[in-house]
Amino acid sequence: MQKYIQEFEQIKNLIQRSQNIAIISHKGPDGDTIGSNLALKNALSSMGKNATSFAHDPIPLHSIFLKGADEFRTEFNPQEFDMVIAVDCGASYMMKYEFTHPYLINIDHHPSNDFFGLINVVDPQMAATVAIIYFLLEYLGGQITPEIATCLMNGLYSDTGSFRHSNTNSLTLKIASNLVAKGADYNRIVKNQFHSNRVEQLKLWGRVLSRARLNDKAAAVSAVTEKDFDELNANAEDLSGVIDYLNTIPESKFCVLLAEDGNGNIKGSFRTQDEKIDLTQIAGLFGGGGHKKAAGFTIPGKLEQEVVWKIKK
Ligand code: 5GP
Ligand code: MN
Repeated sequence: MQKYIQEFEQIKNLIQRSQNIAIISHKGPDGDTIGSNLALKNALSSMGKNATSFAHDPIPLHSIFLKGADEFRTEFNPQEFDMVIAVDCGASYMMKYEFTHPYLINIDHHPSNDFFGLINVVDPQMAATVAIIYFLLEYLGGQITPEIATCLMNGLYSDTGSFRHSNTNSLTLKIASNLVAKGADYNRIVKNQFHSNRVEQLKLWGRVLSRARLNDKAAAVSAVTEKDFDELNANAEDLSGVIDYLNTIPESKFCVLLAEDGNGNIKGSFRTQDEKIDLTQIAGLFGGGGHKKAAGFTIPGKLEQEVVWKIKK
């Protein structure tokens, strides 16, 4: 990609000078941050580098089949590495590791990214961070093996919501087509990400959907508490995907899903189909960020249900 040739050249030089390379995914990892991480790890390993993947939180089940997913580490010591690459982290706090490193590279596609790296490749035009990694790997000249193509496709599939969201454009589909040509296991990705829901997960979705209501600001709102997770033997990962259904109500301007996280925090997720709404602004009010059409935040607190009673004559 012409627009970040300079950054790609700097990254290439740094990689050549490095032996031990850390790659960090964001907290509460999704298919894009895991796919980006592992595509890079596998490519760097084949170049003879010692590449290690890090994620503060557990790897979601839908991405566990990717090559190298079982080798993620949680304990991160920056001094062990010559360079550190953050992938899909919209802000440095999204890594969940507090550290300084002279050679921190930031590769991301969130418009609210705060350019926390020494080198920053941040392109909000890209549907997923894996798309940038795809161009980087092409620039580095290594081979995109079927395993690497599968990692990249996993991110594209995840961040476009199975190629349903508005970030699915000609370039997204062109990259997807190239990845399938390179041997990406598309069917396996679909099965893992879309056609694979635990019964506990479906029950949790049932609660989310049955509580959905439109408030006076035309926002579709729903919520789940720690109690719901406990009763249904479900976890935060099980929420993944349900918000896309909240985001289908024609009269709503945007939707919000609130969830207690078991550590005294509330995680908020926003989605919209409305061109005029910028959710990075709304999530920003709560200290979060993300994309125009998908954003989130985490704040300390608990959820309290408000029941409104009216007298009917
Ligand atoms: P989700 O609602 O799926 O957790 O997140 C939607 C999008 O917003 C993702 O791209 C995610 O990386 C981003 N996001 C979620 N929470 C935060 C946050 O607290 N800060 C920032 N900067 N981005 C967030
Ligand atoms: Mn992403």
